[in-house]
Formats: sequence, C-alpha cells, structure tokens
Amino acid sequence: MWNGMIDRKPALIARCRSAADVSAAIRYARGAELDVSVRCGGHNVAGTSVTDGGVMIDLSLMRSVNVDVDARVAEADGGCLLRDVDIATTEHGLCCPAGVFSYTGLGGLALGGGYGWRCRKWGLTCDHIIGAEVVLADGTIVQTSETENPDLLWALRGGGGNFGVVTKFRLALRPVGRLVLRTGLYAGDNVAIALRAYRDATATISDDFHLLGGLRHARPGDEIPEELADRPVLDMLAIYSADDETSAQQARELFDRMPEGVAGESVLSYLELQTMTDESSPDGRRYYTKSGYVTELPDEAIDRLIDSAAKNPSRTGSIDIEFLLGQVSRADGESSAFPQRHAPFMVSAYGSWDAPEMDDTGKYWARGCISTLQEWEHPGGYVNYISLDDDPAGAEATYGSAIYTRLTEVKRRYDPDNLFRGTRAVRPADGSSR
Ligand SMILES: Cc1cc2nc3c(=O)[nH]c(=O)nc-3n(C[C@H](O)[C@H](O)[C@H](O)COP(=O)(O)OP(=O)(O)OC[C@H]3O[C@@H](n4cnc5c(N)ncnc54)[C@H](O)[C@@H]3O)c2cc1C
Repeated sequence: MWNGMIDRKPALIARCRSAADVSAAIRYARGAELDVSVRCGGHNVAGTSVTDGGVMIDLSLMRSVNVDVDARVAEADGGCLLRDVDIATTEHGLCCPAGVFSYTGLGGLALGGGYGWRCRKWGLTCDHIIGAEVVLADGTIVQTSETENPDLLWALRGGGGNFGVVTKFRLALRPVGRLVLRTGLYAGDNVAIALRAYRDATATISDDFHLLGGLRHARPGDEIPEELADRPVLDMLAIYSADDETSAQQARELFDRMPEGVAGESVLSYLELQTMTDESSPDGRRYYTKSGYVTELPDEAIDRLIDSAAKNPSRTGSIDIEFLLGQVSRADGESSAFPQRHAPFMVSAYGSWDAPEMDDTGKYWARGCISTLQEWEHPGGYVNYISLDDDPAGAEATYGSAIYTRLTEVKRRYDPDNLFRGTRAVRPADGSSR
C-alpha cells in the first residue's frame, strides 16, 4: 500500500490475471463469508483496497493496454496504473486525461472521477469511460456501454468501486501535443500577492489553461532571501497547450502581474508532464490528506491558508489550491454519477512523515486547515480524496441526495448484498444491512 499509515492485513490476496480469476475469487470469498476489497494501484489515501481478514482482489498483474488508433479508443485492464495508459497511448499522439502522479491506479482514480492537468480542457477521466467489462458480486462477467447495461456505465463514471470489479476499461482518447509549463516561486509578502493574482486570473482563463498553487515550507535550494526562509513559500504552476496562443497570452498577462519571484518555463511532452511529480510522494511514508471544495477565495481565505501553511508540522507537506471548472463543469451532468462539477476550487492540505508519533499532530493540522475555510465551503466532496478516518458512510453528503438515490438503485440491481464497498460506500436501495 502506498500509505504507510495503513496497517490492515487481509486473510488472502487473490492475484488475478483475468476476469475469470476475479470471478473465482469473488465466489470463494462469498462462500467463505469473507469481506472483499479491490486493489488497483493501492494509492487510496484511506487504504480502502485492503480490509482486515478479508479477500483482497489484487489486479496489479492485469496491466495491458490496447489502443485502436483510428477509433481513438484504448482498452485498459482494470489493474493499470496511469503510466501504463499514458505510455501506450502517447506513442500514437493520444492520451486519456488523468491524474498527476503516474503510479496512481487507473481503477480507483477513474471510477471516482479523475482530476488532472488537462481536466479543465477535456473533463474528468470518468467522462472518458465509454464502456467496461465488469465482474459482478455473483461472479458473472458483464459488459457495459451506452447501449448495454447503461445504468452501470453511469454509476462507474464517478460512483466509485461500489458496483463490481472492472477488469477492462474502454476509454475515449484525445489527440495531445506538447505542453508549456510555467512556474513561479514566491516568498514572504509576495505569497499573498501572487495568490490573489492567481485567484483573479481564474475569472477569465480559457479551458486550456490549468493553474495550481502549492503553499509549503521553504526547502534548502529554494532561491529565496535567507530572512524569508522561515515563512511559507508558494509554488505556482501554469500548464497549457504549446500551440494555444490564447493560453500563452493569458499566461503572459498572469505572470506580468505576479510579484518578484523565481520564474521558470519549459515545453514538455504529455508523458513528461504526467510524470513530473512522481518523485514527490514515495511509497511507504505515512500520509494524511484533508480536502475540501471552496466556492471562492477572498483575501481573508488566502490569509488563513498562508497562516495554516506556516503551521504545517510536516516539512514535506503542502496546501494545494487547484482551480477546477472548465470542461469538468460543462459535461452533461446526466451522463455520469460524478457530483460536484460546479465547485470552483479544491483545497487539499497534506503532510507526510515517517514517525507514527507524528500522526495525531499531522491529522489535527490538516483538518484544522480545511475547517478554517468553512465560510466558503462548497457542499459535497470528492470520493477519491477521502481521509483515513472519514466516515465511509458519508456517501449521501458527498454525492447529494439525487445522485445518491440513483446510485442506490443501481447498487440494488448489481450488488444487492453490498459486497463491494467503494471509497464512499453506497448502500443498495431497500437492500442489505451489511
Ligand atoms: C500521490 C497521489 C496522487 C494523486 N493524484 C490524483 C489526481 O491527480 N487526481 C485525482 O483525481 N486523484 C488523485 N489521487 C487520488 C486517487 O484518485 C485515489 O487515491 C484513488 O483511489 C487511487 O486509485 P488506486 O487504484 O491507486 O487505489 P486503490 O487503493 O487500489 O483502490 C481504491 C479503491 O478503488 C476501487 N477500485 C480500484 N480499482 C478498481 C477496479 N478495477 N474495479 C473496481 N473497483 C476498483 C476500490 O473500491 C478500491 O477500494 C492521488 C492519490 C495519490 C496517493
């Protein structure tokens, strides 16, 4: 498991190579009355892919990807990591937009939603699922598409791993070219000035333009004045297509308004973009994250975030402020179970450490950071960013009652005994009390 804080031991790990293996593992678990969990990349921060004493269906041996270049469709096994899909598709100048860390599992990320560097331009990863092969709770293997079991397809687009084990994803692909990465590092009073400029720019930027700000402690090697090293610094990242003149102009305008800092600019391939943060979060450390959507970032919220960043007990942690909307908000809400398409910003406070004694302090800090933004909280949540000790039964609040009710109906049809508990557990309508 990626998060070293997860200390659960399954009774059995079923290392599956095919849908038939998955089916056999499910039938075995049911016969033995054992809980089931499903592991793809093992990256869920809350460790939902392992249960104590249960059967872990481990898909990590199922990582093939086939690309139909003419149809612009990839068929990816349910155990793929994002990098497997990126490597296979970019060879043909195509990609499926996904998360920012290439060792994350496609399974968990796509089923829960899937934000990433290109989501404002193209939408979420789950918006690109056009079909799937799924092993259901009774061990049967079914297909889903717009015409076959379409209610299941709807639920797989954002409803999490609550409905069955996806052994193959069919993903729509996008042509992708080179991308520009512009960066800025700001210190001292310039942090607040830069964050305000970032916030103001979000009012007009094009969908092609993606912005993220990360507040963190200064590190050795940061080119900042020594007297500012004990105050938080801000990393700004702006990403856009190298051939998009509108975005380039918007980037120039934004960085012209920015205060003095250390600026950088490079042109990257999509694969380089997708792997550029891989070194930042090594396996096995103890991680804790608390996230929340916010509706706006007034100066007061910015000041509180900077104040929280100064108190982060983790030297390697950060508070990430990501601007969303774009195509995420423009996708047809009816086509998927993904709930919070109109949330403007996602704020994630996270830390990592090695000593278990740090756990309480780190958790307390991250929760406190997000709770200082309560006045600007956007309702609902993102299933893929749940924290280790969040109540897994909080699905209704995460999805909102209309989507949640529809999910419970799909759950009743495909998993009436509630065998699969996703990162946010959806209970079957009028069904199992498990
Ligand atoms: C370093 C890091 C970076 C991240 N970056 C992003 C990001 O940029 N964007 C973003 O949106 N999220 C991001 N996340 C969050 C990520 O989307 C979730 O943690 C997600 O659950 C990880 O998926 P996984 O397959 O690796 O997880 P796992 O722990 O393997 O699985 C999590 C859950 O997903 C379900 N599941 C997984 N595969 C299947 C399958 N094939 N069939 C059925 N159910 C399945 C199961 O319910 C399982 O409990 C990041 C997480 C980390 C740790």
